[in-house]
Amino acid sequence: MSHEKYDVIVAGGGSAGVAAAMASAEAGARTLLIEKYNCLGGASTMRSVNTYCGMYTLEDKPKIIVGGVGARVLSELTQLNAVTGPHRHRGVYVVFDPETVKMVLDKLCQQAGVEVMLGCFVTGAKRQENRVTSVLVADHGGQQTFHAAAFVDCTGDGDLLFQSGAETRYGNDEHVNLGSLGTRFGGIPASVVVAQPDIVSAVKRLKLDKGQVTKDRSVATRLPFSHDLVCYLASADYDPRDAGSMTAAEQDGRRQAWLYLDAIRTIPGCEGAYLVSTGPEFGTRESRHLQSKRMFLWTDVIDGHKFDDCIALGAWGAEWHSREDYSSSFDIQPGGSAYQIPMSCLMSRNTPNLFAAGRLADGDRLGGAAIRVMGTAFATGQASGAAAAQVAEHGDVLSIDMLRKTLISQGAILKTD
Ligand SMILES: Cc1cc2nc3c(=O)[nH]c(=O)nc-3n(C[C@H](O)[C@H](O)[C@H](O)COP(=O)(O)OP(=O)(O)OC[C@H]3O[C@@H](n4cnc5c(N)ncnc54)[C@H](O)[C@@H]3O)c2cc1C
Repeated sequence: MSHEKYDVIVAGGGSAGVAAAMASAEAGARTLLIEKYNCLGGASTMRSVNTYCGMYTLEDKPKIIVGGVGARVLSELTQLNAVTGPHRHRGVYVVFDPETVKMVLDKLCQQAGVEVMLGCFVTGAKRQENRVTSVLVADHGGQQTFHAAAFVDCTGDGDLLFQSGAETRYGNDEHVNLGSLGTRFGGIPASVVVAQPDIVSAVKRLKLDKGQVTKDRSVATRLPFSHDLVCYLASADYDPRDAGSMTAAEQDGRRQAWLYLDAIRTIPGCEGAYLVSTGPEFGTRESRHLQSKRMFLWTDVIDGHKFDDCIALGAWGAEWHSREDYSSSFDIQPGGSAYQIPMSCLMSRNTPNLFAAGRLADGDRLGGAAIRVMGTAFATGQASGAAAAQVAEHGDVLSIDMLRKTLISQGAILKTD
């Protein structure tokens, strides 16, 4: 049993978790980042979600609105030619090579002085009165306890929030954004253009019905270097908190992926397509949320609400995928411009030394569907990490002024103009 003591512990090493840990370490806190897989990146490396959305506004002339850690990741990828874009399909995004992302995130965390622990699952947490005091983790050596003064949950599923007794909820008003299995197809020459309408026609040609497959359309991106085609077609209505439900989704998703391969092979030029990988893990768009001090609302975006505690900017629209009929919708903010995100939607209502970020941020159905994307997750992660470092040093009452100064000194963009 280890009883190591940190200033800040971040659970989950996806886009939000990496940004949180780097911001915390760069603010001077001894920081541990705990990730259950053996690489960092979360959805970007483990779910074939290979497009950063939310980094750019959706205006005619897109502006970059994520600075700090997100901008540093993008800059490293650009220097290695591992990113293409910005592209436009619904929104504005860049496409990246996931192997390069793994390497870049390792390097940036190391440079920032983050202590990273891979292959380590947060299984529990202890609390004294209203504060979290430690997390329980499991690896192949057994179980260990790590203590810290402040914590950030970036697990996407809210494991730390839930285990520590912080208030959470699942989805919003019985709505939960649909999950889909990122699937990667190789063997398609770079010169062959595969667009969403080609996929719709291919699924029709094979006469696949809703019983055999779920979605008939998806964004279709081509990766740098390999030119592999990535789609999010096979979908399932499951509960990611339950291993039995998750297993059924994974197995049915893989069955569907082979049918989609048959369909893609009917597109001219794609006859030699093959399956490079599914997932590896099913892509959960929404699970638990933090019950925060102030929920972020889609009407905040529509009304251009200005927050005194703005700590990040968002730019993605409300992207919703229905569990009922597998359709999707994309509502765009007025003018496609940037909108403000408040710190209060990342602060636990009943646990002052615990923060959340990424897809755990407290948003209503459409607000949450907009701020969950990875570009924005870098920004909310950075804010939560810097906030946790401040609380670890100065106590539980967060100074928003001090936090905003720290974020600006770390390169974050907080002004919509
Ligand atoms: C099918 C699909 C398509 C999408 N398309 C896009 C897109 O094109 N562009 C975009 O920007 N976003 C997209 N998204 C949304 C985006 O992937 C997520 O909202 C985003 O990754 C959230 O970042 P995060 O860091 O909060 O979570 P994640 O990326 O999910 O990272 C969470 C991390 O926590 C780890 N973890 C979980 N539980 C534990 C535990 N108990 N202990 C230790 N570690 C743990 C996980 O292994 C993971 O590494 C898509 C999502 C899906 C599912």
